[in-house]
Amino acid sequence: MSLGSLTARDRVGLQDFVLLEAYTSESAFLENLRKRFHENLIYTYIGTLLVSVNPYKELGIYTKKQMDIYMGVNLFELPPHIYALADNVYRTMLTESNNHFILISGESGAGKTEASKKILQFYAVSCPSTKLMDNVRDRLLLSNPVLEAFGNAKTLKNDNSSRFGKYMDIQFDHVGGAVGGHILSYLLEKSRVVHQNHGERNFHIFYQLVEGGEEDLLRWLGLQRNCQQYSYLVQGECAKVSSINDKTDWKTVRKALTVIEFSESNVESLFAIIASVLHLGNVKFIADSRGYATLNSSPEIHWLSKLLGIPTQVIQVGLTHRKIAARSEEVLSPFTIDHAVYARDALAKAIYGRTFTWLVNMLNESLANKDSSRKTVIGLLDIYGFEVFNVNSFEQFCINYCNEKLQQLFIQLTLKSEQEEYEMEGIEWEPVPYFNNKIICDLVEEKFKGIIAVLDEECLRPGEATDMTFLEKLEEKMAGHPHFITHKLADQKTRKTLERGDFRLLHYAGEVTYCVDHVLTIFHLQVMRQSKNAIVQLCFPTTEPDSKKRPETVATQFKSSLVGLTEILMSKEPWYVRCIKPNEGKQPGSFDDVLVRHQVKYLGLMEHLRVRRAGFAYRRRYQIFLQRYKPLCPDTWPNWKGTAAEGVQCLVKHLGFKPDEYKMGRTKIFIRHPRTLFATEDAFEVC
Ligand code: ADP
Ligand code: MG
Repeated sequence: MSLGSLTARDRVGLQDFVLLEAYTSESAFLENLRKRFHENLIYTYIGTLLVSVNPYKELGIYTKKQMDIYMGVNLFELPPHIYALADNVYRTMLTESNNHFILISGESGAGKTEASKKILQFYAVSCPSTKLMDNVRDRLLLSNPVLEAFGNAKTLKNDNSSRFGKYMDIQFDHVGGAVGGHILSYLLEKSRVVHQNHGERNFHIFYQLVEGGEEDLLRWLGLQRNCQQYSYLVQGECAKVSSINDKTDWKTVRKALTVIEFSESNVESLFAIIASVLHLGNVKFIADSRGYATLNSSPEIHWLSKLLGIPTQVIQVGLTHRKIAARSEEVLSPFTIDHAVYARDALAKAIYGRTFTWLVNMLNESLANKDSSRKTVIGLLDIYGFEVFNVNSFEQFCINYCNEKLQQLFIQLTLKSEQEEYEMEGIEWEPVPYFNNKIICDLVEEKFKGIIAVLDEECLRPGEATDMTFLEKLEEKMAGHPHFITHKLADQKTRKTLERGDFRLLHYAGEVTYCVDHVLTIFHLQVMRQSKNAIVQLCFPTTEPDSKKRPETVATQFKSSLVGLTEILMSKEPWYVRCIKPNEGKQPGSFDDVLVRHQVKYLGLMEHLRVRRAGFAYRRRYQIFLQRYKPLCPDTWPNWKGTAAEGVQCLVKHLGFKPDEYKMGRTKIFIRHPRTLFATEDAFEVC
């Protein structure tokens, strides 16, 4: 595509925002994005960052032919494409022998998961292949439908919404063959197992099993082929979705489980658990004469006992009582109906959540690279975007905290480090202002003072702490913090918009009000520890630290896992795909300006563009640059006697770099536009 012709440019816009003249204008940015979107050009660069707008229709741009076109071509020589980015990351990894990650972000339904699948498919086709690698490749590809079956669900925003965060490492050997992989999952939305909002579904696997499971299997599991029978499947009143075929998906998942080498007995145990969750959801309680819960569900108890391998008596007592430690002995205390329902749901969530973790571990065993030689990796991070609902619970709190952390990482790896590097190298430079969200990260995670620390402290006072005491503690500690408000702390005008049981955080992407209900939860594990089901035994080990010891709250676990993720990412070179949702209606061809503008803002695209514009797309250490390109100049070839910096100066003079195209730093040469480097690279190839 030629950018030279004005008419073509008018019609299809610019393929790189860096070339935008009015680069500080959000409207010009939107205009360019809109123009391209209406021409079905969903990809646009900001330097090496790829912006993608969900087309909500098949564009025919993901064919084998397209993959071939993009293989081994420099990023800016062809129209922007996710394959171009994938190929560039891959080739940089090979030439520089270092590790990379691609962070794919955007709100729910923006196209993150599709993007990560496209990248994986591209590698599956483009990497060199041997029998062993084909095997790894198949497993990498097939891990997707399995994870999606268990971790994705229909929501109002997306018929196939990932309800967990995913980081996947693809490991390559020194010639670029895929030799292994590893998956980390984050914060599965377990509440969905027991509750779905109107218009939403439970995780796909339940419907797949009920709709697609073989007759024999369903009989063995005590299930009927009718989703309407299961209270955990009908709350959203949309068990059937036109864009989803549960029967075919079931077949895909079954086949994938075989290729990934799940044994038949593992598959049986797995579906016994899935069926148990459905039976558990149908367990009903009635009040006895004292108002305590008793069971009114003998068939369900029978199936639970059979499938989990736990005596019926134990299940019956476990579902209606809690064990409390009174002096030296344990006493059974009966549940009220509310408590029993709550405990039943907590159990269902725990079973499903732990089974999901087990599943990821199994996939990892299957993807593990058996060879210990040096590998380089490309990590793919497909993680939930910022979420705001009418009622935001603890899960949204964790998701939005995660987005704050990723924004912080982006700032550190890209904005801040970029500016610091210019300073360090003594390059003249106009600093670009940006909002540093560290203050919000600290508000959530700071030791002793942050929201999570307060939550942990409250969890140490079982029986005394309530959701309200938690909120009061927060108010005490956070009073005056510019990003934290509650009903009590708010000024009069804001107070009207806040309930008493809520707190509001001013995130970098906007305000979110959280409801503190049920933040302090309890788990009942003893019952599950008696199970004969092989997977349940692994998920609820008897050696687990008891609740008497200091419990690690879900929030603390999540915080640690995010710290771990940040460490993994910090050591790698970052690449970004920013996904944008063009409208709320999942409609092709419709571009909602207000909606897109909001995303452009909180995805930090304008800031990124300003940094890119002000800066230099490429930099290389003098030694490396000289080593690579010295054959291009008779004065530097074969041996240069002076310093590397002098050699590079001599080299670029010979190559005819214009003064404004590059700058010489203390240790590196900075090149303003990638084109300059590519021209050099082309000259190198010819020589
Ligand atoms: P996210 O992971 O960001 O929530 P998904 O990747 O699941 O969103 O995308 C939501 C839906 O949008 C997909 O199921 C698909 O129908 C559509 N979609 C996303 N990306 C593309 C694309 N590049 N081309 C065509 N359709 C897409
Ligand atoms: Mg997704």
